[in-house]
Amino acid sequence: MLRIGGLTPLSTTDWPGMLAAVVFCQGCPWRCRYCHNPDLIPARGENEIPWENVLAFLRRRQGLLDGVVFSGGEPTLQAGLADAMRDVRALGFKIGLHTGGMIADNLAAVLPLIDWVGMDVKAPFADYPRTTSAAGSGERAFAGLQQVLASGVDHEIRTTVHPALLDDADLAELARDLAARGVKHYVFQAFRSQGCEDAGLCRSGVRGRPLEGVGDGLAGLFEKFSVRA
Ligand code: SF4
Repeated sequence: MLRIGGLTPLSTTDWPGMLAAVVFCQGCPWRCRYCHNPDLIPARGENEIPWENVLAFLRRRQGLLDGVVFSGGEPTLQAGLADAMRDVRALGFKIGLHTGGMIADNLAAVLPLIDWVGMDVKAPFADYPRTTSAAGSGERAFAGLQQVLASGVDHEIRTTVHPALLDDADLAELARDLAARGVKHYVFQAFRSQGCEDAGLCRSGVRGRPLEGVGDGLAGLFEKFSVRA
């Protein structure tokens, strides 16, 4: 059974181009400094939503939503994810997944069940712990990315940009590396202070100039490239 820490009934942004509900899975082993869902990090949440309640909600939305995104936290931590996805598919919804790619085997097991994956690539892989505070996280994310690319599932790879964590040279290095590995769709998304508990990051805040200045030289590397301010 899936441990659910939250449910967004309707989102137009979590799966671009789709009307989707978002199911927030509880639990994450990483401690990203910019995490804006810190309540979802513990393995058990204080206000978990029973899976049956989620299914009851979705039955009332049949024909009104295109899909359901499993987000988190890290959804692939939970052994019940695949069965939950099958439940949702049986109701006629498409399936999306947000992941950090940190458990490659679990990710590979659910990729055949999904229509779209949004994977966070947080930094050049050797520099991951600067963001995640987790040793070995870059190697884990790299293995997850390989699974996504090998699966052929429609993907969006995105990197959250905070100037204290990634400078322009880091972004350019990362973008070139991802393009060389076969990433087709890449997004820079600006840091948001909402929910972030790292006071230093919030203070140094948003980048002083638009991200487009970096993206201009990199967009041609990808079939689709965009910047979310
Ligand atoms: S991987 Fe996601 S949920 Fe986990 S700490 Fe990082 S931003 Fe938060």
